[in-house]
Amino acid sequence: KRLEELNVADTTCGYCAVGCRFDLYSDGEEILAARPTEAEDAPVNGISTCVKGKFGYDFVNSDDRLTTPLVRDERGEFREATWDEALSRVVEGLGSIQEEHGGEALSVIASSKATNEENYLMGKFARQVLGTNSVDNCNRLCHSSTVAGLAKTYGYGAASISTDDLEIADCVLLTGSNTTEAHPVLATRIKQNVRDGADLLVFDPREVQIAEYATQYTRVNPGYDAVWINAITRHIVNNDLYDEAFVEERTTGFEAVREAVQEFTPERVEEVTGVPHEEIVSAAETIADADRCVFGWTLGLTEHSHGTENVMAMANLAAVTGNLGKPGTGVSPFRGQNNVQGGGGDMGPLPDNFPGYQDIADDEIRAKFEEAWECEISPEYGYYTTQMFLAADDDDLRGMYIIGENAALSEPGVNHAEDILEELEFLVVQDLFVNETAQYADVVLPACSFVEKTGTFTNTDRTVQMVNEVMEPKGDSQPDWEILQALANRMGREWSYDSTAEIMEEVNSLTPLYGGVTHDRVESEGGLQWPCWDEDHPGTERLYADAFNTDDGKAHLQAVGYSEPAETPDEEYPFTLTTGRVLYQYHTGTMTHREEGIMQYTPSDFIEINPDTAANYGIESGDMVRVTSRRGEIVVSAQVTDRVGPESVFIPIHFAESAVNRLTDEEHLDPAAATPEFKVSAVRIAPD
Ligand code: SF4
Repeated sequence: KRLEELNVADTTCGYCAVGCRFDLYSDGEEILAARPTEAEDAPVNGISTCVKGKFGYDFVNSDDRLTTPLVRDERGEFREATWDEALSRVVEGLGSIQEEHGGEALSVIASSKATNEENYLMGKFARQVLGTNSVDNCNRLCHSSTVAGLAKTYGYGAASISTDDLEIADCVLLTGSNTTEAHPVLATRIKQNVRDGADLLVFDPREVQIAEYATQYTRVNPGYDAVWINAITRHIVNNDLYDEAFVEERTTGFEAVREAVQEFTPERVEEVTGVPHEEIVSAAETIADADRCVFGWTLGLTEHSHGTENVMAMANLAAVTGNLGKPGTGVSPFRGQNNVQGGGGDMGPLPDNFPGYQDIADDEIRAKFEEAWECEISPEYGYYTTQMFLAADDDDLRGMYIIGENAALSEPGVNHAEDILEELEFLVVQDLFVNETAQYADVVLPACSFVEKTGTFTNTDRTVQMVNEVMEPKGDSQPDWEILQALANRMGREWSYDSTAEIMEEVNSLTPLYGGVTHDRVESEGGLQWPCWDEDHPGTERLYADAFNTDDGKAHLQAVGYSEPAETPDEEYPFTLTTGRVLYQYHTGTMTHREEGIMQYTPSDFIEINPDTAANYGIESGDMVRVTSRRGEIVVSAQVTDRVGPESVFIPIHFAESAVNRLTDEEHLDPAAATPEFKVSAVRIAPD
């Protein structure tokens, strides 16, 4: 068929949070083509989508797609069930725990793959229907330390920039970000800017692909980011290279920061981070010389037991150099999952916040939600995702409802997570597939993918965009919001939403940040960046142009001292393991493993080992290597490469057969954000 004869829907990518918008062409159930939008208001337009956005749709019609609910039979095996039976089982399972132990014994893990409207309902369902504040999402495993660190310093826990700023900055500092593979279209924009003369500074333990374009690539020891960032700040303030007017007029806490960074002397910094002083100096002077600098990062900065401090150190650096609120300047945490900004944070499926980061402990705010939702809500924060698995150890938590999250692979220390999932009194999983987590479920409910429903996603630069239905839901699967509504009504509530537009109207009325973000406007204006206070507000391209979101309107700089990873290499476990993504895979692979073409490129995980290390152990590329930490062991094939240094190894996160989270640590969490330390685990290696 010719392109003009196919159905076409304008929608937003369901993979990463760059938020590429494109026209999807379909014929019946088949998706045949994706064409990037030319719409001027799209955060990325006219730039080719990456391989996942272009080709990653086979999962929708995969043979093992879940199209009917499943329940356990008397032998403990799954059998197909009607929606009526499955929902009755869920009501009975969750309801009996609620009755016997109270709602606090239940938790919900919400899905950053789902729409904003659905995530709003996941939070409402937890609080109103189940009576628990223990509702959280994958944000806990990645950027929650960004949210905590930026909120404390500037007021909003989000990117201050618009994506366009990456193209007009004179200097971009990237750290802990494998941008080319994890955020390919953003990487393209940065590379274009570098070709036009911008400086690119890359600080990373791995020489990631984008480092090939860097003016300066500096290898850092994993786990000590605040040290080298503070050292850059120290050089800048000690040599009067900071923006005195900006610091004076728009910040507080500068003197405490100036004092705190003094301990990061050249000798100490080199000893701890491996970074020679001259590289600190050259980076500091490049940043100070630039008129406009953007500071970008991903999980290499945040997935640490002191991730919040790392982020605050970076926020200090951006502020002392005056790089906030103007075109081409700002901070940019690149968010991971397609809707982790909106669904994972803004919509408030969080143990401590209602939608729009409104604190549940605030009496006035809580009263507003109690009135709207007609229920009582405890002022006590619930468990963060990472804490849920620890709380279940002590029977403080007995039942879980997991939506679109593959916790059995994605949690830190999955040997422990598997035990918990096995022992829960009741587990409901809502997903497209019987994934590794669903294997432990009592009931599995079939949900829809993003091409089978309508709603909104919010991307990494706070732009809310439409997700439009491309095809009917597969089999008996249903959108998450419809499943939640059916369950809420069976559990004594009266939800009567006819559409996600109607759910968004409720969000508008309760969430000042999203006050003017209606479906009509998002549709007609192509996208809206929050804050968007009311229907006349144009949205906010760049945060902090006039004031920070703090009580006095100033950035509150935070003194950050020395800290080190919870686990450092020793004789028994001499290497530092870091983990991450690759271009051709996405998270635990539920979507990408079902793409034949994509699977040809990265069909399994691997371990990157430095050539010197490999030679010492007699390991060659392709050999199988046993990797052991204090928590478990896995076997993966070797890739010998100087992309990693001699003290580190790297393993991607994508395959159950070599689940790298058997090696990571579930206990040492960031004290402010409860983020796990995925990026530093002490391991040993041996040829298998
Ligand atoms: Fe989708 Fe991200 Fe690729 Fe864009 S860069 S097509 S949003 S996966």
